[in-house]
Amino acid sequence: MKINHLGIAAKSIEEALKFWADGLGLENVHTEVVEDQKVRVAMLPIGESRIELLEPTSEDSPISKFLEKRGGGIHHIAIEVEDINAALAHLKAQGARLIDESPRVGAEDCLVAFVHPASTNGVLLELVESK
Ligand code: ZN
Repeated sequence: MKINHLGIAAKSIEEALKFWADGLGLENVHTEVVEDQKVRVAMLPIGESRIELLEPTSEDSPISKFLEKRGGGIHHIAIEVEDINAALAHLKAQGARLIDESPRVGAEDCLVAFVHPASTNGVLLELVESK
């Protein structure tokens, strides 16, 4: 397993890129809107992992709520797994609280599923199975 990406909530991706790209020197290699999650994401590779900047696309986006409460910050950690269905079944059997019982399609057409912070010491965890 490895960290696929760290999701960071931002009011504006353009604004955030002034630090992460222009300042720090990371490259924004991919931007897309994930309608299902009401976010626009920008992916910036860093080593074998990536920074995922998340900008809300509507007032009722989960990221809007997060920004209202906290003003920004690390929204989730995404771990890459080989078989997301097997990982979900295993976690469920272990008693973990799942937000997604079955995977959905996330950014870059990966399969993703979220695990509730109640089961992860307070961190929203995303499981990712790459194509
Ligand atoms: Zn993510």
